[in-house]
Amino acid sequence: MTSSLNRRLLLVHAHPDDESIGTGATMAKYAAEGAHVTLVTCTLGELGEIIPPGLAALGADRDDQLGGYRIGELNAACQALGVTDHRFLGGPGRWRDSGMIGTPGNDDPRAFWQADTEEAATALAAVIREVRPQVVVTYDNDGFYGHPDHIQAHRVAWRAFQLAADPAVTIEPGAGGPGAGGPGGGCGPALPPWAVSKFYASTTPQSFLNAEIRTLQAQPLPHGFIPPASAADLVYGVPDEQVTTEIDGSAHLDAKLAAMQAHATQITVDGVFFALSNKVGQLASGVEHYALLSGRRGPDGSCGREDDLFAGVDERPVTQPVPDGATAGRAG
Ligand SMILES: [Zn+2]
Repeated sequence: MTSSLNRRLLLVHAHPDDESIGTGATMAKYAAEGAHVTLVTCTLGELGEIIPPGLAALGADRDDQLGGYRIGELNAACQALGVTDHRFLGGPGRWRDSGMIGTPGNDDPRAFWQADTEEAATALAAVIREVRPQVVVTYDNDGFYGHPDHIQAHRVAWRAFQLAADPAVTIEPGAGGPGAGGPGGGCGPALPPWAVSKFYASTTPQSFLNAEIRTLQAQPLPHGFIPPASAADLVYGVPDEQVTTEIDGSAHLDAKLAAMQAHATQITVDGVFFALSNKVGQLASGVEHYALLSGRRGPDGSCGREDDLFAGVDERPVTQPVPDGATAGRAG
């Protein structure tokens, strides 16, 4: 195996805060080990429910300024995770938060749910061809818990994974978003194809979720938190056998908690507990799980699953350094 400096991991998330809640320990761990970690966020999360009463005026029903505010929260979260390469798909604000399924936000023409999949996937494929990640992480086709933007993130990432590798597809450096490709963006030579080795969905095994609920029900929670009644109160688990990979980022749990805390409009953090606007207590974990959707599964670690997203990957060095945020709009 070669140096971790050759490792390049790209994560595709729907809203600011998803990266920290679902994959924060993993991102912090690989960044600390010297891997190049790229985060692509598909929307600004304009329709998130705002927890601090003093910030209620930012909401879509009032001043509609939450998206811009959350760019700052995401910047702080990335800093806590040690991640310097962050981009918004198509540039900040290109696609809007669609809201929960069945709500009016789904029909907004600006909504990510209404995005042309091919256009969004081409923007992401441009980032993939530029960064050349061996590993891509997003959600499964159910979007982890059925949110339209998460489902769309899966569709777009899957299509981008195909487009990036296809030598018959020409993608200009400017395709990733405004300001792309440096001066005169879009005028450079087409980006060479890149085949991602492994494509993962972030997930939670049912047994892990059940254990978390037992833990939460067995002890007093911080003031204002409600204990979960059942698995339906938390994220949905998947059958254990679907989970191929377990990343132990426990040493980076503090970074994950700090990143979650940076998303103060969306998350209340108290010790290792946290709650979203529904106040249902959850336990932040340094151990995060994944399901390999495409690519060859590497050897299992002592946990009985892969313990490294790069397991079995050929990590040949790249000849050029990866420029930070050169393609799509940067967070700042
Ligand atoms: Zn989300």
